[in-house]
Parts: sequence; C-alpha cells; structure tokens
Amino acid sequence: MFAAHAPAGPARSAALLIAASALLAFASPAHGQGAAPAAVTLTRLECGTNAPPTDVGQRFSDTYAYNGLKVQLVYSCYVIRHGNDVLVWDTGFAKSNAPTSPKQTIPELLGQLDISPAQVKYVGLSHYHGDHIGQASLFPMATLLVGKSDWDVLSDAKATPNQAPIAPWLSGGKVEPLTGDRDVFGDGSVMVLNMPGHTPGHRALLVRLKDMGNVLLTGDLAHFHENYDSNGVPSFNTDRAATLASLDRFKQIAKNLKATVIIQHDQRDIAKLPLFPAMAK
Ligand SMILES: [Zn+2]
Repeated sequence: MFAAHAPAGPARSAALLIAASALLAFASPAHGQGAAPAAVTLTRLECGTNAPPTDVGQRFSDTYAYNGLKVQLVYSCYVIRHGNDVLVWDTGFAKSNAPTSPKQTIPELLGQLDISPAQVKYVGLSHYHGDHIGQASLFPMATLLVGKSDWDVLSDAKATPNQAPIAPWLSGGKVEPLTGDRDVFGDGSVMVLNMPGHTPGHRALLVRLKDMGNVLLTGDLAHFHENYDSNGVPSFNTDRAATLASLDRFKQIAKNLKATVIIQHDQRDIAKLPLFPAMAK
C-alpha cells in the first residue's frame, strides 16, 4: 500500500507536497549557461523481501567476529533525479518466485514517482552480485555504469552463467566499464566512487544534496554497522587488502564531507532517508 494515490488527511498533504516538489524539480532548468544547478533528489526503493535476520558470524567475518550476532539485512536500490535525468543505483533481485523477490519491480515503483523507464539515463551497479543486478535488464536503453573489473566477470559467460540481467549490454547497449571514479552528470553532484575489494570492481556512490547535504551509499563495502565500524571483512570478499583500503578512503570522504553514510543492506539505515515515495533533497 502506498499513500500516493488516494490518500486522506496528513498523508494527502504529504502527497501533495511531494507532487508539488516533483513539479518544481522538473520545471527547473537542467543545464545551460546561467541556469540554476539541476535539482538533485534521492529516494530509496525496496528491491527485495527481507529474509529472517542473518547470523552474520557465518559469512560476514574472516576473523571470527560477531559470534551469533543476528542482523536484519534488507535489499535497497536508489533513484537519483538530476533535473529531468535519472540514475538508478543498484537493481536488487529480479521479481521471481523466490522468497526474497521484490513485491514490486523498480519500474512499478518509479511509476509511483512519475518516472518512466525511458527517463532512466543511467543504471549504476555497485557490483556484480545477484541481489544488486537482478532488474538491470528492465532498463535496456540506459547507459550501464559498472566497474571494469566487475564488467569483465559479468561479460564472461563462463564466470557468469546467468547473464540475463545484463543481456541488453551484451548485445549493443551502451556500457561504461569504469576504471576510476565517474562524475555521472558532469557537475560533481553524483559521483560513482572506486571502492574495490568486496568484488574486484566494486563501487560506492556519493550524492550531494542541497538540503540534506552529502550522502554516501556503501554498495556492499560494508553490509551492516558492526562491520563498517570495525573494518570487518566478509570471508567471501575477493580482496581483503583492497577492502581495507577502500574502507579507509570511504571513511575519510565521509569525514571530510560530513556525509550521511547509508549502509545499503542494514535495516537500521533505511530511516536515514525519507521513506518512499518521499525524496531527500
Ligand atoms: Zn555483494
């Protein structure tokens, strides 16, 4: 159930406010000389259904930490508007019969934000794991932004037997295999950051918002507060040293930019952003 369609009372006012700000965002000039900077917004999407709390000591530590600690992990995607252009950051699980399947697809959720799939200019993947790439193929016209070392794995049929999620970019779609950071819209407001270690080409995202300030989305650099705080490294990461170097860089950026850090898989971080369909501005 979502309040955007026939709400009453406070929900209705909230929905009207959201609608009004959406109109303002679209009315503001995106580019050009003398134009105001494009309005940037950030909204979290639910891109999977929660499994029961996870015993994180089993797979999420290579140092026998977190003995018996159970954490509620969630599956998050994000939509970033920049004027009329849209970046979808991570694409969750594909809709399926699996218990962790999302209840609604990303295009269905975007519809509730009055965003059409055609507006999605970029799809950014933090990394190649199945709970991050599942719905990418629903945006075949978008430019795919992905770390080159992850793209090398995804585009290799032997390494990635199920290539369905990235099929559009194996058959002519536009893909940018990234070797460093990437300034998505050319004005520094949305930066894909090179943060290898969880996977070889893993990336995080910086979003610089006018009102809320700087927001850092971790990808899977960390999966929950405890391994972020203690520089814990999951046993299934591809490179321990790279993970630690990335955590060091990420934390320095967070400190220097006074950024809000959002750990994408940690339920405790959902409320750091306004809840869907509201947007952080
Ligand atoms: Zn992962």
